[in-house]
Amino acid sequence: QCVQACPVGALSEIDYKYPVWRALNDPAKTVVVQTAPAVRVAIGEAFGLPPGSVSTGKMVTALRMLGFDRVFDTDFAADLTIMEETTELIERIKSGRNLPILTSCCPGWVKFLEHQFPELIYMPSTAKSPQQMFGAITKTYFAQKAGIAPENLTVVSVMPCLSKKYEAAREEFSRDGIRDVDIVISTRELADMIREAGIQFDQLEEGEYDSPLGESTGAAVIFGATGGVLEAALRTAADWIAGEDLQEIDFTGVRGLDGIKEAAVNINGLELHVAVCSGLGNARKLLEKIQKGEADYQAIEIMACPGGCLNGGGQPYHHGDTTILQKRLEALYRDDKSQPVRKSHRNPSIQRLYAEFLGEPGSHFAHQLLHTAYVDRRK
Ligand code: SF4
Repeated sequence: QCVQACPVGALSEIDYKYPVWRALNDPAKTVVVQTAPAVRVAIGEAFGLPPGSVSTGKMVTALRMLGFDRVFDTDFAADLTIMEETTELIERIKSGRNLPILTSCCPGWVKFLEHQFPELIYMPSTAKSPQQMFGAITKTYFAQKAGIAPENLTVVSVMPCLSKKYEAAREEFSRDGIRDVDIVISTRELADMIREAGIQFDQLEEGEYDSPLGESTGAAVIFGATGGVLEAALRTAADWIAGEDLQEIDFTGVRGLDGIKEAAVNINGLELHVAVCSGLGNARKLLEKIQKGEADYQAIEIMACPGGCLNGGGQPYHHGDTTILQKRLEALYRDDKSQPVRKSHRNPSIQRLYAEFLGEPGSHFAHQLLHTAYVDRRK
């Protein structure tokens, strides 16, 4: 076991490559992999590609060569998270209750809140993170569609993050004794596996994700940067509130690597005040403002790692070179701009998932599968 320190000081890195190799060599298992948004803009660095390279296609090809039975995208589940989280945001704005809504995608930040500000645990969105939504949908919807018993499915996540290993192991993220996500590896661990298999990453052809959990939008890929989750939610909220397909979808006020950002967004006369922060020191400042009644926001995005997941503890080392982070950030927004669909609610696979399986966003069944609750850990 490797003991690489987590940048948020919360965890040690546990090496899960070997359980993945074992699963890939088990003929009884169908092994499904999901790749988080920030992985694609950093993994190339491990193979000498310039920082800021978007290596999605090469990564997909490498994962197939390693033997994964299905190569899917966490971005699909990021779009799903936006459907549920934005539904909650609009409900809270209408009722005026439990505002501001806090994003809940980052397990490092969620655990910090549970320990340090348990009196505010009613504030985060109850939507599970994209990693956990992906697992829940794979073990139900995909399992049914593919005719595979959930117990014979192994879900592996490739994450920029070390806290995601802890998140996948949280007690509440299983149904009938079957975990949503079985194994989590970091970007660095995937790079090690690719090397161990003797694959020449930089020379690979561009592969495509499998269907149906591989289709995603530009809104999903920006989850990898601080401000991206909130911008994705604003794109959907703006369309839903205005009742039209708005063309102005770049909410640039929430972008960039600054530790705390604030913006006011006007949607058909409704003024929303939002804030974005990354780094737990900044989170503490913002939460203390909320506690003192000095903050008037409707929505806040918080990420534990400064800059968001692009700077996660499982990413290739940048040794303090912030120009590398800037290049990863630019790569995510470039990727967003290049997508034919840039709003989560317009993802055709997400629309099909609701029509065939979940019903409406925020439905009782969606809540059973895709929502969670938080724990006062001070007790
Ligand atoms: Fe993990 Fe850091 Fe992203 Fe939070 S911000 S999910 S701790 S990589």
